[in-house]
Amino acid sequence: MAQSIAAKSPGAEIICHDPTTGGEIGRAPLFMPEEVAHAVARAQEAQPAWAALSFRERGRVIMKARKIILHDLEEIASLISRETGKPVSEAISLELTPALDLMQHFARKTASLLSPRRISIGQYWTMGRSSYEIYKPLGVVGIISPWNFPWATPLDEVVMALMAGNTAVLKPSELTPLSGLKIKEVFEQAGLPDGVLEVVTGDGSTGAALVGAGVNKIMFTGSVATGKRVAEAAAKYLIPVVLELGGKDPMVVLDDAHVENAARGAVWGAFANCGQSCSSVERCYVHESIAELFIAEVVKETRRLRQGAGTEKTTDVGSMSSERQLRIVERHVNQAIDNGAVALTGGERLRDVTGPFYPPTVLTKVNQNMDVMQEETFGPVLPIMSFRTEEEAVRLANDSQFGLTASVWTNNIARGQQLAARIDAGTVMINEVFYTHGIAQTPWGGVKQSGLGRTHGRAGLLELVHSQHIHVNRLPFIPDLWWFNYDEGAGLLFRGFARRFSSGSVLQTMLLLPQMIRRWREPRN
Ligand code: NAD
Repeated sequence: MAQSIAAKSPGAEIICHDPTTGGEIGRAPLFMPEEVAHAVARAQEAQPAWAALSFRERGRVIMKARKIILHDLEEIASLISRETGKPVSEAISLELTPALDLMQHFARKTASLLSPRRISIGQYWTMGRSSYEIYKPLGVVGIISPWNFPWATPLDEVVMALMAGNTAVLKPSELTPLSGLKIKEVFEQAGLPDGVLEVVTGDGSTGAALVGAGVNKIMFTGSVATGKRVAEAAAKYLIPVVLELGGKDPMVVLDDAHVENAARGAVWGAFANCGQSCSSVERCYVHESIAELFIAEVVKETRRLRQGAGTEKTTDVGSMSSERQLRIVERHVNQAIDNGAVALTGGERLRDVTGPFYPPTVLTKVNQNMDVMQEETFGPVLPIMSFRTEEEAVRLANDSQFGLTASVWTNNIARGQQLAARIDAGTVMINEVFYTHGIAQTPWGGVKQSGLGRTHGRAGLLELVHSQHIHVNRLPFIPDLWWFNYDEGAGLLFRGFARRFSSGSVLQTMLLLPQMIRRWREPRN
């Protein structure tokens, strides 16, 4: 059952259901636009005092929150599992662990990552000039997040925004508002001052209200269609956006790959989180010489998977998070089968259970034009095609509107690196799939329709500040040579600048010294 909304007016609630059982698991307020505006106003008011704290003081609160999360680990993992249908083990391995790691990393390292940076300014140093950059918080950061990783995705962005000196207003997905409220509760217990983190639960209209409520940036994660809507709305207020959108991530298995391991990687990459990840393996291209063996291994591994309630200890694959998402999967698989594809496992929803259960489905005899190879399926489906040459593999991998992650499998690392550089994607992994969102230190983000900007790593942190350039003249008693007045001598010197100074060579610049001294000494008319 999808989450439902009781009467859209002040006091309205989102009623949250466990997708696996359909049972109610809690309620969350549905914030109206005026309430969102109040939340943003509280965050604005709290921001200067929060920014005035040192990195160490801000880091202390983050580390305290981290300790609370560790203490409540089982309770939080169970909540995530019941809200999404994913196995508790995955809530721990794919959400809690990476977010805990990110918390300690940015709590400890933001000070050095955002320390002032000297800028080399070419020949201007010869005139006693220097430049450096400092980084200042943006103000209030609006974070809009999806349901598939309801803990790690918003929490990572909250932590990075806060460490950079911003306050944040988070709008979690309407399918997973309870995880969002739990994030708020953890930070409250950690002693975060009032207003530094506001959580506004609600649906798309709540998210739309947040974009226009006076925030200084939007960090959006979700679908391409909504991302475009958010960017369009943000343009009206001239606020920047980071868009982390969909993916159709290719896996390329070369003829010299370790077949068994590549097959296990494909199965995990395609079916972890029930395939509901922007960086899931969504299409696989395998060299024709090993295709038969590889497919046999994939099928063998897939048949081993145990599907069931996420709260069961031995469940590998849970239910999908919503009936709506399951219907997209059904449409893609049915269209593929109608056009000649063969399902070696799965192929239709499980009918003898309640809840949106779709079995891990391996498809062969697919072609590049099918929706299952072009559109984001976001479900437990692994379509496999074979290729003959590396050229063909690169062409197929790049034949997509998306470019989030990709992987290349080979025992020859140099060969893998060369191929990786030719694939259009924000991240390309060699002999690895899916998991690099879990690395706090590396940039995350896509190209093409997969989005704009970066989260994570130093690049992600720089999205949450603006850089201020400070330029210093250590010879304040000497006028600049390019100031007024312009006369014949000035004209000659400017021509010298164009030829010599702009060459980037100190030696060439020094040749202008006599002319420069003459101009400094010249009496002014
Ligand atoms: P979605 O676009 O439907 O919703 C995302 C969020 O936007 C939700 O909180 C929703 O309430 C809000 N929203 C809806 N309409 C809005 C509007 N007009 N203005 C502002 N906010 C609005 O996406 P979803 O179904 O929740 O998530 C699945 C999508 O997210 C997939 O496409 C997946 O690939 C993508 N995703 C991307 C990444 C990444 O890092 N690139 C990570 C996770 C998920």
